[in-house]
Amino acid sequence: MTNTFVYEIDKSLYINATNKCTNSCEFCVRNNKDFVYGDLWLEHEPTVKEVLDRLKEYDLKKYNEVVFCGYGEPTYRLDVIEEVSNFAHAHGLKTRINTNGHANYIHKKDVSDIIVKNIDTIGISLNDISEKEYDDICHPEFEGGFEEMLSFAKLCIVKGGNVIFSVVDVIGKEKIDKATKIAKDIGAKLRVRELID
Ligand code: SF4
Repeated sequence: MTNTFVYEIDKSLYINATNKCTNSCEFCVRNNKDFVYGDLWLEHEPTVKEVLDRLKEYDLKKYNEVVFCGYGEPTYRLDVIEEVSNFAHAHGLKTRINTNGHANYIHKKDVSDIIVKNIDTIGISLNDISEKEYDDICHPEFEGGFEEMLSFAKLCIVKGGNVIFSVVDVIGKEKIDKATKIAKDIGAKLRVRELID
């Protein structure tokens, strides 16, 4: 275990503030011990100050964006999202999140305002095209994880958020076409990612 709260990939600084997740996806990089970006299991969840102190060690002029991602679902840490986004924007950086869309389930209230207000690009993992198929690969800890994710995406879009769904290319063309329609119907974009081997 380490305390890698911040790591860099190209011109992006990634924030790894929690290891908690409502899903247990079969393809999750947390299951891959050889993951190229190293060990992101945390000894403890960082405070906002710890994340900001780590960020300040970087030459921020070299980067384009801050990304809330890592070995867990970043919306568990709304405190980090709000404070770090303020810091990023004050330094001319964009913000992005990779989320499973379960923030409202996690916090038992609608927190989409906080995400839309702070995050320039809201990446939401669609993963599949129906509740049953989503359950089969993501194994959410509660019933209705797919619908929960879609509802969150719709709320973000209604509030003006820039939402990009993602699927992995291995699901095949037929499903990608259906995912494209799901995204289009609610006004989101779709990104088809390559599977990280
Ligand atoms: S939602 Fe993301 S962090 Fe959570 S298990 Fe799935 S891939 Fe991993």
